[in-house]
Amino acid sequence: MATGNEELENIEPREDVPTERLANARHELGEHNGVNMSIEVSDTFVFKNPENMGKAFLGEVGPETGTYIYSRHYNPTVLNFSHQLAAIEGTETAYCTSSGMAAISSVLLELCKNGGHVVAAECLYGGTYALLKHFLPAKCNITTVFVDITKHEDVKKAIVKGKTNVLYFESISNPTLVVADIPELSKIAHEKGVKVVVDNTFSPLILSPAKLGADVVLHSLTKYFSGGSDLIAGAICGPEEIVKPLMDLSLGPLMILGPTMNPREAYELSARLPHLSLRVKKQCNRAMKLAQRIKELDPFLRIIYPGLEDHPQHNLLDSMRNKGYGFGALISIDMVTAEKANLLLDKLENKYNFGFIAVSLGYYENLMCASGSSTSSEMDPETMKRLGITPGLIRCSIGYLGTLNQKWNQFKSAYEEKDE
Ligand SMILES: *Cc1c(COP(=O)(O)O)cnc(C)c1O
Repeated sequence: MATGNEELENIEPREDVPTERLANARHELGEHNGVNMSIEVSDTFVFKNPENMGKAFLGEVGPETGTYIYSRHYNPTVLNFSHQLAAIEGTETAYCTSSGMAAISSVLLELCKNGGHVVAAECLYGGTYALLKHFLPAKCNITTVFVDITKHEDVKKAIVKGKTNVLYFESISNPTLVVADIPELSKIAHEKGVKVVVDNTFSPLILSPAKLGADVVLHSLTKYFSGGSDLIAGAICGPEEIVKPLMDLSLGPLMILGPTMNPREAYELSARLPHLSLRVKKQCNRAMKLAQRIKELDPFLRIIYPGLEDHPQHNLLDSMRNKGYGFGALISIDMVTAEKANLLLDKLENKYNFGFIAVSLGYYENLMCASGSSTSSEMDPETMKRLGITPGLIRCSIGYLGTLNQKWNQFKSAYEEKDE
């Protein structure tokens, strides 16, 4: 009796706030009242009244009144899709970009000005780390202090009132899966007048950082939102006062630097939103079961998964996550040396079909990589060592294809032969 109810509860949960918000935010109908939004492929838009063109350039009329100028500025399809993302994240508005990196760099340029200052988590996606550590100081005179964001006293000390512009971190960090205390960190930053920018790529729908106190929520839509590893895209969700200036005709980083989302991709992604929650839930569920079984199989293996009770921020994530969602779908296991990691990866991919050796995440198949020699290789060896990114650390993005038992047997067989 109880088992049957549980199964139904998984399919039709009583509460699922991000999904409810998406359902309430009915998007525009298609051009001919189609149930799907139309794709506005035009790069330029006709003004029936010549006076309106001047007004549009002055910002007196705009997308709010159905007036568009040029698709690097605003595109109706991209805007429509962006509003759906804002609904999911519970932010006032949002706008999309051609990649996750475009979202990250545009927001930082918007909030930092020349000579700006960022306090950032020391454990970040490799591209973000390179942007903050090398690119921004060299090209824009924007400097960053890196801190361990689990040490709130260190964060407080690093933030300089009147100088620091942004506190930047990932909701769940790559690849060490450290969970940020979003409410507490937001409080610390806001006390000093600093904006909080959170990369929520690893925990879509699972966490709603804006509801927990963050000012801006970023996504690489390339990952779970796409779910198909077939496109690159990003999103910036936040208040009007931060998102709108991104399109300013003179100073907007999106308008001037031009990392624009293609409207065809906006449509493509919007069509995948309704089943995002189903996918993410299944991925979380499978990751939890696999993590538990891996831990049982070898109690001496260092396995990092926020769903396991021995994870340092297990309770924290449990308290922040949206009901009906799990603890993410990334698992890191530490094979210590690169040789051992590669032996296991080879067996997993080529002998047992457990998944692919590839970067990225959120795909329906399992994707695995040794982070130290791939996605985190932008970091210097000392930092990597301090963060626990050993040469043998394997990051595994859990998919949902096949059955749990099938995938488990594949992993187990490969693991048992890992020394051969
Ligand atoms: C992939 C990723 C990015 C960069 O996104 P792109 O779409 O590849 O530009 C940023 N942050 C995190 C956490 C990521 O996983």
